[in-house]
Amino acid sequence: MSARTLSRPASLEALDETAVPLAGGTDLVPLVRDGLVEAETLVDVRSLLPRGVEPGGIGIGAGTTLADLERSGEVPDALREACRLAASPQLRAMGTIGGNLLQATRCWYWRLAFPCYLHGGDRCHAREGEHREHAIFAVEPCASAHPSDPAAALLALGAVVETTRRRLPLAELYRLPTEDDRRLTTLAGGELILRLRLEEPDASVYLKAMDRQRWSFPLVGVAAARYGEETRLALAGVAPIPWALGSPADLDAATPLPGTAYKVDIARALVGRALAAVR
Ligand SMILES: Cc1cc2nc3c(=O)[nH]c(=O)nc-3n(C[C@H](O)[C@H](O)[C@H](O)COP(=O)(O)OP(=O)(O)OC[C@H]3O[C@@H](n4cnc5c(N)ncnc54)[C@H](O)[C@@H]3O)c2cc1C
Ligand code: SF4
Repeated sequence: MSARTLSRPASLEALDETAVPLAGGTDLVPLVRDGLVEAETLVDVRSLLPRGVEPGGIGIGAGTTLADLERSGEVPDALREACRLAASPQLRAMGTIGGNLLQATRCWYWRLAFPCYLHGGDRCHAREGEHREHAIFAVEPCASAHPSDPAAALLALGAVVETTRRRLPLAELYRLPTEDDRRLTTLAGGELILRLRLEEPDASVYLKAMDRQRWSFPLVGVAAARYGEETRLALAGVAPIPWALGSPADLDAATPLPGTAYKVDIARALVGRALAAVR
């Protein structure tokens, strides 16, 4: 293990910049075990995070599990369905929405510790190698595909993230990696997600293409949320970060890899169905 101790502080004030927060641990624990996350101390924040859904304006505590959201009558359909279609019942019972938004890439080169671009190297092994599950947008310099279903739903639902330091639109929680900074999020060390706030849509939906009917990450996930005449679209599994799609025509701007071209067709079909469903 690359973490030496587990602390359970009595309040969030005890977290410093080096703290590595542990919520459900469904993503973090395997990463620590495999040496992909180095941490002197893991800080168990689960009991300190707000949990549950506040109706009216919809606030969601970061410690709310995907299972809680899947069962909630208060959250919009797109989010409920994105949670229901994620992972397995056991993982949804442990995994929190905050941890889900911050889960690491499933790119197997990254998970096997290849010295790739996202690990600080200068090559994308997936682009040159096996990449059937990878991206169709923003494929350079890293072609990974963001694995979170709920993130796409929350992006379409205009979620705002409240952290221990600021409020920001969900889109600003994510960034594409650059030469001098390979991170995929803008969260600072020790900064915690506390809550998400969403706007109630007139209608919303989440559709997911996956290899199996259960326990599969999205090949392509499409969320649509309609607010009056405006419909917002967001995609999972198509770029290193959750991807907002301005309009269906924006799929023409996809730059797939040879092995991911099929995803463009799937996205086109799901976007068409999602728009029909919320109309
Ligand atoms: C086999 C498998 C299949 C899966 N399938 C899917 C799928 O189909 N779709 C999908 O969307 N997801 C899927 N997942 C991901 C799963 O939903 C996430 O692992 C889970 O939601 C993460 O939540 P957690 O509370 O366990 O996070 P943790 O593992 O505790 O933490 C994950 C990361 O977030 C950080 N963190 C946690 N909470 C906070 C916070 N409040 N503030 C700041 N940082 C925080 C941690 O430090 C860590 O970096 C799958 C996971 C597995 C293992
Ligand atoms: S897709 Fe990204 S994470 Fe995967 S090998 Fe390429 S640079 Fe690394």
